[in-house]
Amino acid sequence: MKRWFGVWIAVGLFSLPARAATLRIYHIDVEQADATLFIAPGGKALLVDSGKDGMGSRIKAVMEAAGLARVDYFVCTHYHEDHYGGIDELVALDTPVLETYDRGDKLYLPASKLAETAYTNYLDSVGEDARHITRGMTIPLDPQMTVTCISSGGVVIGEANPRHGVDENDMSVSLLLSYGSFRYFIGGDIEAPTEAKIAAGDLVRNVSVYHSNHHGSDTSSSRAFIEDLEPGVIIISNGNNGTYKHPRQTVLDAYETLPGPPKVFQTNKYLKGGAGGNVADEFIADPESADLDGTILITVDLAGGEYRVSYGAGAEHEFALPGSAPGATVVIASLLPNPAGSDEEGERVVLANKGDAPVFLAGWWLEDRAGLRWELGGSITLQAGATRTIERNGRPMSLSNTGDDITLFDAAGAMRDRFEYDESSEGVAITTGH
Ligand SMILES: [Zn+2]
Repeated sequence: MKRWFGVWIAVGLFSLPARAATLRIYHIDVEQADATLFIAPGGKALLVDSGKDGMGSRIKAVMEAAGLARVDYFVCTHYHEDHYGGIDELVALDTPVLETYDRGDKLYLPASKLAETAYTNYLDSVGEDARHITRGMTIPLDPQMTVTCISSGGVVIGEANPRHGVDENDMSVSLLLSYGSFRYFIGGDIEAPTEAKIAAGDLVRNVSVYHSNHHGSDTSSSRAFIEDLEPGVIIISNGNNGTYKHPRQTVLDAYETLPGPPKVFQTNKYLKGGAGGNVADEFIADPESADLDGTILITVDLAGGEYRVSYGAGAEHEFALPGSAPGATVVIASLLPNPAGSDEEGERVVLANKGDAPVFLAGWWLEDRAGLRWELGGSITLQAGATRTIERNGRPMSLSNTGDDITLFDAAGAMRDRFEYDESSEGVAITTGH
């Protein structure tokens, strides 16, 4: 009887996923700092930054409310205390952190940084065993999602002669997360130089949500970059700090001039005057900036075709997810698995629009037999009858020289075309006949 009961319990637990799958993103109120928690539809968790010293307990409280016991992946965007300060406390509160990523480079940090207590606490708790994340790498958060490193150390995907950055903020790890047609960019404190490289390479276009770089500072959110992103929603993680004056009013003004314009939300209100500014109170989670209720939650519901921004006592805003143009026919026209130069840089796929309507390729991707992907975030509108060449440029998917199976998916996750080949010759493109 007891054993039977045990089996029954196990079956009961297995039936839990009946709850509709969503992606949840918590922008945790850590005042003048950053801590963003992603809970994937499959249940794994990614924490990007951990707030400043003493903020671990706030992260723990959000995790407990969300029913989360561990962090599967932690990304430290860069070596500033407002981005890693809380992680040692979170670990001390019995939270397993299974894998940590940072940009490496620790040997080159200044002596003052190496001696900083918060930094050594980061190293002792998780940083010592961190994996280096470089441009093009992906984090295996969820089979339905892609998490791609766009920049690290000031070097971006596709940069032909990588030039390492020098500014700690600008060397932040930046990530593009995709879930169906929902796309989210988070870049720690990257600034204008790395933003310019991302914009020049058309690496991130048309996102649903932009996590404002560097807490809404005017050294970030440069024009070409935010025009490329063209977000529907912008989230600013800021505190009430008179030294930094985040977010800057000029940055909020720039957001207002974007198409839409995007809806902008702040975790806290800035109250110290000068060059700092605020959106209207109804879009600020903690308008008093005095308590802990500034956390902003985004819930992405693919089946419902929408995502919701919610905070405080019942504030909720709904946004539609983009679809793709029906009836258009984009196919894989040819592949070059074995270019004369470096495979990692020079592999190519040519897409062709055989339909009679233009197709918007943002959110589309190519996937190989191993499940690795090339996001087509940089591709824009493919006109009827036109072709577009996608170069690998450091992206993770490879066109295997000894045969592979390449599939094209649209932003809604539907398969649009597929081509299988068994061999290749150096410098010779394979024409699919599609
Ligand atoms: Zn910061």
